[in-house]
Amino acid sequence: MKPKPTEDFIYTELYNAILERRLPPETKLGENLLAEHYGVSRTIIRQVLMRLSHDRLIKLEPNRGAFVASLSLAEAKQIYEAWRLTEAAIVRDVTKTITKKQISALRTLVAEERVACEQQDLPRLTRLSAQFHIQLADFCTNKYLGRFLKELVPLTSLAFFYEVRNMPICTKDEHSEILDDIASRDADAAVAAAMRHLDGIEAGLNARAALNQTASLVDILKSRTPSLS
Ligand SMILES: [Zn+2]
Repeated sequence: MKPKPTEDFIYTELYNAILERRLPPETKLGENLLAEHYGVSRTIIRQVLMRLSHDRLIKLEPNRGAFVASLSLAEAKQIYEAWRLTEAAIVRDVTKTITKKQISALRTLVAEERVACEQQDLPRLTRLSAQFHIQLADFCTNKYLGRFLKELVPLTSLAFFYEVRNMPICTKDEHSEILDDIASRDADAAVAAAMRHLDGIEAGLNARAALNQTASLVDILKSRTPSLS
């Protein structure tokens, strides 16, 4: 008999599905459905949902159940602003303290991103891209900054509805640009590269928001939602 999936396993599956943008905001996460799907009790599912709600990735509504969280455009912009400030501090810190071993771990990650990009595996690319920033946060000597960024980055996946681009990060290979500057211990250049990178992501956010404002309901119904895959 196959062992039942653990709470951690189910948590990671749902966490990754949100991070990879496979589960869009407002998707209902039915307790019964999930319990049946994983072959576990509703108690376990409830614990998983509590953890995800603590991460702010889902919302628990009385009498309605659990839904993937959604962000207003204003909230999405606040998250990007907080990300930008934290990222700058983290990149500066990491540039001073990074070890050879840490550099090679980041190079491996960037190489994996490139493969995912070549294979047009967008969910995987999205997750690896987030991991690049999370990994940098892990290397930061200021644990509070690191923890803060690790809380923020997954939330950016919820902002994807406002983004226009299908291939956000890999095309210009911006992560390896940031990494090269970090590896050559040039903090100013590394921070500048990271800020250009986040500028690009945020510009995509604004463009999509403008698009939504000008489209009429009929136009929206006639056109297909831009696909992410
Ligand atoms: Zn990035």
